[in-house]
Amino acid sequence: MNVSANGASKGAEAPRLISRPGPPANLIVRGARLVDPRTKLDATRDLVVRDGEIAELAEPGGAPEIEGAEVVDGEGLLALPAFIDPHVHLRVPGQEHKEDLETGTRSAAAGGYCAVIAMANTAPPIDSAAVLGSVRDRAEREASIPVGFVANVTRAMGGAELTEMAELREVGAIGFSDDGLPIANARVLRRALQYQRLAGGVIALHEEDPDLSAGGVMHEGDVSAALGMAGVPSVSESTLIARDCSLALYEDAPIHVQHLSARTSVEEIARAKAAGVRVTCEATPHHLTLTEDAVRSLDPRFKMNPPLRAEDDRQALIEGLGDGTIDCVATDHAPHAAEEKEVPFEEAAWGVTGLETAFAALYSELVLPGVLPLELLIERMTCGGEPFGIEPPRLEKGALANITLIDPELSWTVGEEGYESRSYNNCFGGRELTGRVLMTVAAGCVAFRQRSFAMGVAP
Ligand SMILES: [Zn+2]
Ligand SMILES: [Zn+2]
Repeated sequence: MNVSANGASKGAEAPRLISRPGPPANLIVRGARLVDPRTKLDATRDLVVRDGEIAELAEPGGAPEIEGAEVVDGEGLLALPAFIDPHVHLRVPGQEHKEDLETGTRSAAAGGYCAVIAMANTAPPIDSAAVLGSVRDRAEREASIPVGFVANVTRAMGGAELTEMAELREVGAIGFSDDGLPIANARVLRRALQYQRLAGGVIALHEEDPDLSAGGVMHEGDVSAALGMAGVPSVSESTLIARDCSLALYEDAPIHVQHLSARTSVEEIARAKAAGVRVTCEATPHHLTLTEDAVRSLDPRFKMNPPLRAEDDRQALIEGLGDGTIDCVATDHAPHAAEEKEVPFEEAAWGVTGLETAFAALYSELVLPGVLPLELLIERMTCGGEPFGIEPPRLEKGALANITLIDPELSWTVGEEGYESRSYNNCFGGRELTGRVLMTVAAGCVAFRQRSFAMGVAP
């Protein structure tokens, strides 16, 4: 199914989100708690999906019968607008031993996502219309939920020569990013921002000053000192954010800052927003729930870029998510093969998977202890497409069904039953989390159903 980005497209351009066509869902969820902060909905209702659209939010017991529809007993379950992740690595093309579009989108659907935005640091990178066209063709055959593909800002991610941004937009690029690498050269980013004004599509930025972070394998702080490991200072991130916000203001161009990890970065974003910079940003479940202390284990599953930082940084991220300085949650789902992770910490690849655990990790660590309200978490997990022109899904009559059904009391041990992702470098692996996605409807089609989750079919 092709879904056009709302509001972002100019003229007759290719749809920005793309997936495999599927049969439209016919579904009745009886008596679930429906929560949608955008429509101020928090009530027990019968949720009726007919031909892939939300047909009814009926009083309990008031749902009409639909012949052949699947019927779910929703008592005790949450029915939410499904989530959108603005930052995942699906490893296509070229690294299908880590993930592909089928496993990556299934992993996303298993985490309650109805759309994801895939990064372009692939092999080869997505820096030409030919490569972009080929991954979009594959998504039309293999992706169980809609995927938007960013294209690179610079050719071969070399940081020097710009890609054909206007042409890439025409063939469907949802935005631009060299994620995995920063755009170190300010002149190059400035020119990209100028071209972006014509091409459209936000530029998403991995912020890291390569000279400041060179050689570091973890956060520079107490734990790196204790372990005797080279650190990446938090100013490596925040100084580049400050530079790029200045450039964005000067060029009056929108930027999206990826995976904030440090208090100084949250402060830079807050200052920039107050000054009128058109900047949005994201934070990951791992930076919101874990700190450098986890690295004491020397388990490479805690090695990611940016690194897990100090508790004070984590608190700043939580505050930023709460007050809106941080716009959305992104997983930065980064699958890696076992041989790249099962090596000494210093040598291990950067990155962790996270699509299947994002909601449960944040619900267990932030919502259940009362740190953040459920409604806020739902808002921040559903609006990840907005910087790229994709509206958040809504639970309202007539809307295309993008729904996740969650058991908020079910505790489960991460990884015990394996993963839908091809890789298993999940930093929550082995931990017990509460809150489990049972079913996801994406773009009107049932995209995921938990194996153990039984349901009836109406006569
Ligand atoms: Zn990155
Ligand atoms: Zn990334």
